[in-house]
Amino acid sequence: MEPQLLTLIDLQGFDTRIAALEGDAARLPKQIEAIHAAVAEAKALLDALKQKADATRKDLRGKEKDLEVVTAKRSKAEARLWEVKNNVEYSAVLSEIESIKQEKARGEEEILGLMELQERLAAETREAETRLKGREEQARQDEAVVRKKLEAVESQLATVRVERATRARELPRPLLADYAKILKARAGVAVASVNSTAICGGCRVAIRPQAIQELKAARTLMLCESCGRYLYWQESA
Ligand SMILES: [Zn+2]
Repeated sequence: MEPQLLTLIDLQGFDTRIAALEGDAARLPKQIEAIHAAVAEAKALLDALKQKADATRKDLRGKEKDLEVVTAKRSKAEARLWEVKNNVEYSAVLSEIESIKQEKARGEEEILGLMELQERLAAETREAETRLKGREEQARQDEAVVRKKLEAVESQLATVRVERATRARELPRPLLADYAKILKARAGVAVASVNSTAICGGCRVAIRPQAIQELKAARTLMLCESCGRYLYWQESA
């Protein structure tokens, strides 16, 4: 076989590997981002719960103070019952006491509601903390795995690039430039095989019988008349 063709076939092999490795090198950092995002999400949920619990605690403290005020108001009103001078005043104070009682009952109910909410939030916070810890642990493991993969991909890339560069030096510059141009224009495939089905492995267009004979002889570089890729004959397995 024409030695330049052999070199082109090898280069194509290197470039296909490099493209796959570059794809991995771009994809893996995104996986790490997704791992971090999952932890951040669990953290945000926990923070929101803590904030809500804090607000509930403050709310509860306020309501408890209100209740103290209402209780004091009631004692005062009850004391006044002894000082009233007639029935009209007496019933006025009684009705005041009744409305204070209702206010107190409402306040107590609100406090109860807030205490229940507080309990619920405490339980949810504990769950969220457990979930966050679990996610952090999982994230540490997952990230270590992905980082290891990324390191491997980068070191493979470095090796393959060196091998490719060495092989590429065997070709005259114009041919190498031509190869690079086709590689770019044709989705990373500049060299395509043809087998007994007699179609271009790159674009699937039929190859003329006479060209097949020339391909088999492999004495010159040949291009697909349809897609412009370098062609080589490959015996069917
Ligand atoms: Zn073609």
